[in-house]
Amino acid sequence: MTSLIDIREDGHVHTRLCNHAVGEMEEYVQQAVERGLTTLVFLEHLETEIRYQPRSWLDDADFALYFREGERLKQQYREVIDIKLGVETGYNPEAAEAIRRRLARYPVERVGLSCHFHRHGDVHLNLLSRRRQSLDQLAAIGADAVVTAYFAALTEAVATLDCDVLCHLDAVLRHLPGIRFNDDHRRQIGELLDAMQAHSVALEINTSGFDYRGTPFPAGWIVTEALRRNIPLRAGSDAHHPAEVGRHFKRLPDLLAVLPA
Ligand SMILES: [Zn+2]
Ligand SMILES: [Zn+2]
Repeated sequence: MTSLIDIREDGHVHTRLCNHAVGEMEEYVQQAVERGLTTLVFLEHLETEIRYQPRSWLDDADFALYFREGERLKQQYREVIDIKLGVETGYNPEAAEAIRRRLARYPVERVGLSCHFHRHGDVHLNLLSRRRQSLDQLAAIGADAVVTAYFAALTEAVATLDCDVLCHLDAVLRHLPGIRFNDDHRRQIGELLDAMQAHSVALEINTSGFDYRGTPFPAGWIVTEALRRNIPLRAGSDAHHPAEVGRHFKRLPDLLAVLPA
């Protein structure tokens, strides 16, 4: 079952450029080489028209630096490891056209898709934050409604943007105690997977989940549903520290061998 996923490629790492990760790009490359990886994909945070402080994504100046340093590293390490420069674009339903323009403007080699924010009045709330205030506000809006909006946004994004892989599909509200999906949400997940199949978008197996909840994102049943649709899987560590590159990848083959039916 090892062939279901290539664990020599880490398809999702960040760097200090996003303001909430640490480490230089080169430190991530060195760690990937040390781990014996053949490919490392940077997937830096790109957000568009999101009103949230402090900024947890790259601005234009950061992206200029990112692509310059990335090109240098590609050359320097070309005999050793394949480096790809991508972005993890958040979807903002109110800025779809602007996102498309930005993706076209950058020399992006891989586009990961996620949705980190929920609009609430004049501001956005972070769906993946562990901050108490943020969780309280989202709970007050209603977890079910927030999750419904999240899956609807991702499904729209898959059909609207040119993207390669969907990141941490079920990580929404991961820090809200007792969060669970209802039957409508499960139906939405099926529709999202249908859209991914139709638009050739891969599913990320995000191993940061091992550290958050003992099992990767997304849950096994979602992976089963993806494979039923012949959606390819890609491993991503979502490293925010160089030491996290390729984290827990060796556990994936065994896990995928015992997926729920
Ligand atoms: Zn991040
Ligand atoms: Zn990420």
